[in-house]
Amino acid sequence: MNRYLSVLFENSVKLLKQGLFSIVNVNYSNMTSNLSSKFSTPEMISVANKLEQGVRITDEDALYLFEKASLAELGIMANSIRVNRHGDKTYFNRNFHMEPTNVCLYTCTFCSYSRLIKKREEGWEYSLEEMVDMVKAYDDQPVTEVHIVGGVLPQYDVEFYSNLFSAIKAHRPELHIKALTPVEYHYIFKKAKISYQEGMEKMKASGLDSMPGGGAEIFHPEIRDEIAGGKCTGDQWLDIHRIWHQLGGRSNATMLYGHIEEYKHRIHHMSELRKLQDETGGFQTFIPLKFRNKGNQMSHIEESTVIEDLKNYAVSRIYLDNFDHIKAYWPMIGRDTAQLSLAFGVDDIDGTIDDTTKIYTMAGSEEQTPALSTEQLVQLIKRVGRHPIERDTLYNVVTDYKDVVFESDNEFKGYLQLPVVNN
Ligand code: SF4
Repeated sequence: MNRYLSVLFENSVKLLKQGLFSIVNVNYSNMTSNLSSKFSTPEMISVANKLEQGVRITDEDALYLFEKASLAELGIMANSIRVNRHGDKTYFNRNFHMEPTNVCLYTCTFCSYSRLIKKREEGWEYSLEEMVDMVKAYDDQPVTEVHIVGGVLPQYDVEFYSNLFSAIKAHRPELHIKALTPVEYHYIFKKAKISYQEGMEKMKASGLDSMPGGGAEIFHPEIRDEIAGGKCTGDQWLDIHRIWHQLGGRSNATMLYGHIEEYKHRIHHMSELRKLQDETGGFQTFIPLKFRNKGNQMSHIEESTVIEDLKNYAVSRIYLDNFDHIKAYWPMIGRDTAQLSLAFGVDDIDGTIDDTTKIYTMAGSEEQTPALSTEQLVQLIKRVGRHPIERDTLYNVVTDYKDVVFESDNEFKGYLQLPVVNN
């Protein structure tokens, strides 16, 4: 691409972002107080009235939003909720990922890990010592969290993880361990013949601090049996989180969307999460995960569009009234869409992560070597007019970057002028 075309392309992307932001960022103050005046159809006015009055929307409302609402309408609603909750604050953290193995005995059709079970030599299977060494490699870095998930194999059992968590805590006590999903816990507890309760208590005693949101996929058995048959059911996933919350732990929740599910399945999924959150209050963040189609058994399915991704963030923000945070996982959707998502209900864009995760890159995510320095992440947030805050896993503020100036701040000159042609 020559220089002129390249500038033209960059400007188009910037103008798209600017346009979408100006649609939804009408006025940061008092956003929901006259929300209904911004809509013209009876259905949208009804939903807006509920939001103004703090009334929860129904599953039917959510279906209407998915099927009939325009992207701009969804953006106005979702952004008003985001602004009421967080202003323009946008959170990220400094973490690194460890994946004990990329070989898995389950055969989830959307996953690029499961294909390696027949050719294990192509994958990796780290020992406990190797994993502790990976933690030590971050000794001089100000990371606050290690995120541990991976494939399921018999040698990674209760004893392995219990010893791993204890070893990490012995080496670096303040490092927050966010580890494993109910998929792994269900498998290792069953293998050890212990109950979920007993197992989660043991994990907590070994040093587990919180649980990530993975393994949720789509709870509804019509879809789950098709794409993730054999691993824990939706009810079992929810049970393990329930027990963890009852032990005083916090966790996140994901939803894998954009494959063979219908809107009714997404709504059922979010409804189950909303109910459990009413019961325990233990969830922090909802993270929609976009299905990517590289290197898995569902490669024939087209991926969702950016418009659909943004709609999905917005409806999640509107529906999940008892979740504090909606996160866009930037390595999965790419930096441009992550910036756009901040105008559609998202208030968290995950972390710096280095390039330590392979789960999404193997499935064809936007970022094939996902790494952003803190400065780059802060710039990414500031360039769309938001207020970057580094948080720890539990959303305590680590550093507020609102007034921090980097040298590279001066590099951004706003929107480039196109050349003027005089006849
Ligand atoms: S999604 Fe998880 S459980 Fe399923 S095959 Fe992949 S690593 Fe295994």
